[in-house]
Amino acid sequence: MYHCAQSTERQHAPSKKAPPPKKRDKMQMDTFTCHGWLHITLSELDNVAYVKIDHRDDHIPYVPIDIPDDVKELINNNPKWTPTQVWHNLPY
Ligand SMILES: [Zn+2]
Repeated sequence: MYHCAQSTERQHAPSKKAPPPKKRDKMQMDTFTCHGWLHITLSELDNVAYVKIDHRDDHIPYVPIDIPDDVKELINNNPKWTPTQVWHNLPY
């Protein structure tokens, strides 16, 4: 089962025992009570995939917040590269 990346339910509730979160320089993604999930069932007996999806809120689209601008540029300039090729050509 896959959950909507922006689902509030997907976010971990802060634990009282956990240490305070480390200061990060990345943005916090907005979340919504969309109850979004996708479930795909495959059968060995036939070639049909059964797909169930639920998403109850037409919220703003997901926007990647973890990819640095120079890596986005690398990907956009090389759309046929595989993820491995991108990985081996990272500017770091
Ligand atoms: Zn959602």
